[in-house]
Amino acid sequence: MLVDMHLHEKTFSPDAFQELKQMVEVAKARGLDAICITDHDSMGLKNFAEQYSRETGYPIFVGVEFFSLQGDITAFGIDSIPSERIDAQSFIDYVLQCGGVCFSCHPFRNNNRGLEENLKSVKGLTGIEVLNGSTLYDANKKAFEYCSELQLMPIGASDAHDLDQLGKYATWFPNMVYTLDDFVKEIKKGISKPAILGDNGYNVVDSI
Ligand SMILES: [Zn+2]
Repeated sequence: MLVDMHLHEKTFSPDAFQELKQMVEVAKARGLDAICITDHDSMGLKNFAEQYSRETGYPIFVGVEFFSLQGDITAFGIDSIPSERIDAQSFIDYVLQCGGVCFSCHPFRNNNRGLEENLKSVKGLTGIEVLNGSTLYDANKKAFEYCSELQLMPIGASDAHDLDQLGKYATWFPNMVYTLDDFVKEIKKGISKPAILGDNGYNVVDSI
């Protein structure tokens, strides 16, 4: 299963220009088996997206991109988010308590919103976004290196705010799943590979 694990939809991400129904069409056309919605500090789309997913049979997993005091973290398997910014470790602990999973997204992106060296001190991350569509090559490469050093799961995601970028990077998982609960279980198995969209579909990679 190929999943774009970090996408913004315009209803609850004010900086996004894409709408869910278009996103599903484009995702299918590019060869994605599922998409994730990770709006900035909002899970407002959850009910609508889950209903739309059931209607269409296309998997849409709604998580969040939470701006912790040390940087952005994407999370899946929670129903709500803290009402204010809290530190990264507290957020991770909260998600784990809910039975969810956390990823450091774009840890070294040059927007001061990555966890950077905090990657080495926080406990409980499931994985690291080693390919982020809005991040320069060197910063993604550094994320790869930290991910293998810390023995975390490597994931890829476009972080698209518009349709052009959607699916640029993705994550491969061994099994196809359709519900968020099953997606979280699939993640917890610990097997994933980042993938890059090429002219003939996705290429899974072990490094860049
Ligand atoms: Zn994002």
